[in-house]
Amino acid sequence: MTEIEIIINKVAQDKVDYKDGVKIILQHPQFDFIQTIQSLETFILNAIPNKSSYESEAYRKAISTIPLKPTVTPIVILNKNSTKIAFGKLKDLPKYEEEKIITSLVWIFKVIDSERRSTDCRNGCGHFWHNID
Ligand SMILES: [Zn+2]
Repeated sequence: MTEIEIIINKVAQDKVDYKDGVKIILQHPQFDFIQTIQSLETFILNAIPNKSSYESEAYRKAISTIPLKPTVTPIVILNKNSTKIAFGKLKDLPKYEEEKIITSLVWIFKVIDSERRSTDCRNGCGHFWHNID
């Protein structure tokens, strides 16, 4: 994992504060928007149990609780489109949307990964990223 991917997972696991974590990611010398969104997409798709639609109640709930106005473009895209289509559209947005996109996706991953850790992974799991310090 890259340093940014480690930070994303630490935020998901409450080892780094969410707001601080988003700031650290955006200001990181290795931050690259497309690479970071790609990492977040992989993490999010991995954490959704339904691999045919990549939909879940937790995923939709996560979108509805993103700490931004629900009218911002990335959230509108996430609400209106299926998971994979939404990610494709997010990658095409202009640079000034980057902060909102990363804010949204880190939140979604935090919510659904927390759900996964408290259910599927509760009795221990082989996910190495669930065992970082
Ligand atoms: Zn796990």
